[in-house]
This record gives sequence, structure tokens and C-alpha cells, in this order.
Amino acid sequence: MEFEPVIGLEVHAQLKTETKIFCACTTAFGNAPNANTCPVCTGMPGVLPVLNKKAVTFAIRAALATHCTIAEESRFDRKNYFYPDLPKGYQISQYAAPIAEHGHLDIETEQTGAKNIGITRIHMEEDAGKLIHDPVRGTSMVDLNRTGVPLIEIVSEPDIRTPAEAGAYLRKLHAILRYIDVCDGNMEQGSFRCDANISLRPRGQDAFGTRTELKNLNSFRHVEKAIQYEIDRQTYVLEQGESVIQETRLWDPDGNKTISMRGKEQAHDYRYFPDPDLVPLIVDQDWITQVADQMPELPEAKKTRFMSDYQLSAYDAQILTADINLAAFFETCVKDLSHVKQAANWICTTLLGLLNAKGLDITQSPVSAKDFGTLMGLLESDTITAAVAKTVFEEMAQTGADPVAIVKEKGLEQVSDTAEIQSLVDTILAENPDEVAAFRNGKTKLFSFFMGQIMKKTRGKADPKIVTPVLQSKLNPEK
Ligand code: ADP
Ligand code: MG
Ligand code: ZN
Repeated sequence: MEFEPVIGLEVHAQLKTETKIFCACTTAFGNAPNANTCPVCTGMPGVLPVLNKKAVTFAIRAALATHCTIAEESRFDRKNYFYPDLPKGYQISQYAAPIAEHGHLDIETEQTGAKNIGITRIHMEEDAGKLIHDPVRGTSMVDLNRTGVPLIEIVSEPDIRTPAEAGAYLRKLHAILRYIDVCDGNMEQGSFRCDANISLRPRGQDAFGTRTELKNLNSFRHVEKAIQYEIDRQTYVLEQGESVIQETRLWDPDGNKTISMRGKEQAHDYRYFPDPDLVPLIVDQDWITQVADQMPELPEAKKTRFMSDYQLSAYDAQILTADINLAAFFETCVKDLSHVKQAANWICTTLLGLLNAKGLDITQSPVSAKDFGTLMGLLESDTITAAVAKTVFEEMAQTGADPVAIVKEKGLEQVSDTAEIQSLVDTILAENPDEVAAFRNGKTKLFSFFMGQIMKKTRGKADPKIVTPVLQSKLNPEK
């Protein structure tokens, strides 16, 4: 029997507010444990939560960017459970009446093409604290700095069918939240985390099968790998004639497998009820309009604009707009250039290649957008050759020096004086009589050997557009 995977994703995104969702404590990352706490976020008796307006504005922005309908009235509930990182014994979350519902996200994958993934709802909630386990002393400590940091949870419909679609959905959502500046998207620090729900059903059947929920997925790669593992595992279970157990499983990135963590709890286990300390949240049309008016350009719109303004291919535009900072880098870089397509190529290959190799993101680029633009300008004006531009780029990346200064200091300007090139070609041919004879006997592949010799002598400075015809005519004197 053939099975079809059904996947739904829950994303928790930490909102970039300066203070927590129900108190004035800072949300700054990296302070001493428990430094960012007060009686409200540590759940002392008698305190009252006060909702952070900025957090609501950010949630509205996220809702608009994902085409959700925003509720005029939503509510906060208490989700009751015990855990040492949850001092109140309950988490304040929106359950029955979330701030936004019925959105969607457009994705595209190579295998399954363009698709529309439904968003069930977005709700606001507070984060819990963190336990730090010390295996040496056999103790655990609790850090409540994260307790009360505002989150939105974005719940997708079970519309996803492949690991690649899950990856595309997450990358798109991640890009959008960064574009609208509501979440820093740092997956290692947990500002953007994903739980994946997976089930299988016989192909053609409408009813969903039993799902498992995967946690601990802190990179896009892990999500895709974990989902694939879980599809394979469930397929095996079903093929054995057994049933999938509804449970929460943990991704083990070192073992490349998922491990059963606990039986899946049901909503009624949490004894949800409306938080009596908080009034209903009212979002009127004025507030929504105000947020909508300040909405920045979204990835899709930027991609379309890049294609029309700069005549970029869909492929290049997609790469350059996937991250808002990369898009900004590109636009700064090409401000004074006319050969924009060339600069786009260099960014997508040479620059991104270097950043990937060094594990840096674009904001950490050792070469600034302005300097990169200057380098592209030197190439565009034929001041330097492409080969030299590569060398200059490498030096810029290492020393941070200005490209014009590097070119001047090392005398790297392109040699495009025809007479100079002609005498250079004469020298090279005189130095390599055997190869010249072989070439003239039909070994035309040697052309690149001569080209290489000339580039070697000039350290890549000779203009290939001039060298090529000169070399051609001197190697084929009868023509
Ligand atoms: P909970 O909060 O208990 O995890 P929800 O009903 O909110 O439960 O669902 C969470 C996620 O699970 C959603 O993204 C939804 O699309 C997905 N989901 C629900 N049922 C299935 C299923 N049978 N297979 C795969 N995903 C599912
Ligand atoms: Mg869940
Ligand atoms: Zn506090």
C-alpha cells in the first residue's frame, strides 16, 4: 500500500519587543541568569499582568503579512501544567479566541511546484523559562530571564506533503517575520522554533492518520531530515501491520533519528480557562489600518520589483530577496552601477560562496556593500579584469581594504593596450615553440594554454577581449 504524508507545522516566534509581554522586564538575551525578572514574571502572589501594546502591534503585523483575518476581540487563557521553568504553574496563552485566523502562505518547491499553505491561526502567548542541567554535579538550575518574553505561535493547516514543502514554508515564514521586523529569526537562540506534526494515510483516503509531534528542530535542515525520518519510521510501522502511537518525539541530530519523549497530551489535560486577570483584547479597525500603513515591502513584492527594476531572472531575484539584509546589500551595491546583472551574479556566487564557507550571514560580511559596489564598478569600466577582481575581492575579504587602493597599490589595472598585448603574445609564442608547432598541427586545445601563459605573465591583468583575437591571428598566420 502507498502512503501519503500529511504535515502541519507550529512555529513559535519570539517578538522583538524591548520588554516582556506582561511586565516591564527587559527581553535582552545573554544577561546573568534571573537578572531580567520581577514579581510579575516570577509569578509572585498578588501581582497583575499588563499587556504590552507593542507585542500586539507586532502580532497584527504578522497576521497581515500572512493574510489572516484579525479578530476584533480576542482573549487570554491559562494553560495549566507543572514544570520547574514555569513559576506560575500556568502559561498565559490565547486558546479559544486567538488574535488572528484563516491566513495562508505561498510556497514553491522544485518537486511539487507552487502551492498555497493554509494558516489556521496565530495566537499570542508568553514564553517559559529555561532549565540548565549540570551533569557533573547532578543538579539542575532554573533561569527565568525568558519567562514572559512575548511569542506568537503560527499554526499551519495540515496542507504540507513533503519535507521540502515544510522547509520552503518555514524559510518563507522566517523571511517574512524578518522583513516585517517582528522577530530576529535566530534559530540557535530559539527565537524561531518549529514543532512538526506528521501522519500517514493510504493514498486516496480523506481521513487523516494518527500523528506524532516532533520537537527540538532548531534548523531548517533538521526539520527536513527529521520529517523524512518520521515518514520512513511510520511507513515501516504501518507496513508491519501495527499502528502509529500519538506521541511527542524528539529529534536527535547526532543519531539522525527521532526518539519517543512522552505521550501526546490533549487540550483537556491543560484545563484551559480565561485568565481572570486580563481583560479581552480589542483590536479596532483604526489600529489595523495604522499597522497596515506602516507595513514594509514583503519578500514577494520585492522579488517582483527586483525582476522588473533590475531585469534579474526569477532565480537571482529569489536568492537576493530571501533575506532582507541581503536584498539591502544588493541595492546599496548596485546604486551606481549599470551592469546590475553582473553584480547580482558576483553576489550570488563569489560573495555568498565566501560567506557560506565561513559560516557568516550577510550582516557579518567582511566586505561592505559599498566596497563591493566599487569593485563591481572597476570591473564594469574595464579598469580590471574578472580574474583580477577575484584576487582583489579575496584581499578585501582578508584585510577590509578599499578596492581602488588595492588596485592602485599593486598595479592591477587591466592591460588593454593593443601594442603592448601584441608584443606580449610574441614573447609567449617565442618562449613556447613546441606548443606553437603542436597547435599549428591541429592541437587547438592548446589555445587555453597560451591564454594561461599570458595571464600568468600579467597576473591576470590582460584584457581577454583583446588578447583573444591577437593570439588567434598570431597562431594562425595564414588566415
Ligand atoms: P496541538 O496544539 O495539540 O498540537 P492542534 O490541533 O493545534 O494541536 O494541531 C497542531 C498542528 O498539527 C497543526 O499544524 C495541524 O495542522 C497539525 N495536524 C493536526 N492533525 C494532523 C494530522 N493528522 N497529521 C499531521 N498534522 C496534523
Ligand atoms: Mg502542538
Ligand atoms: Zn518581569
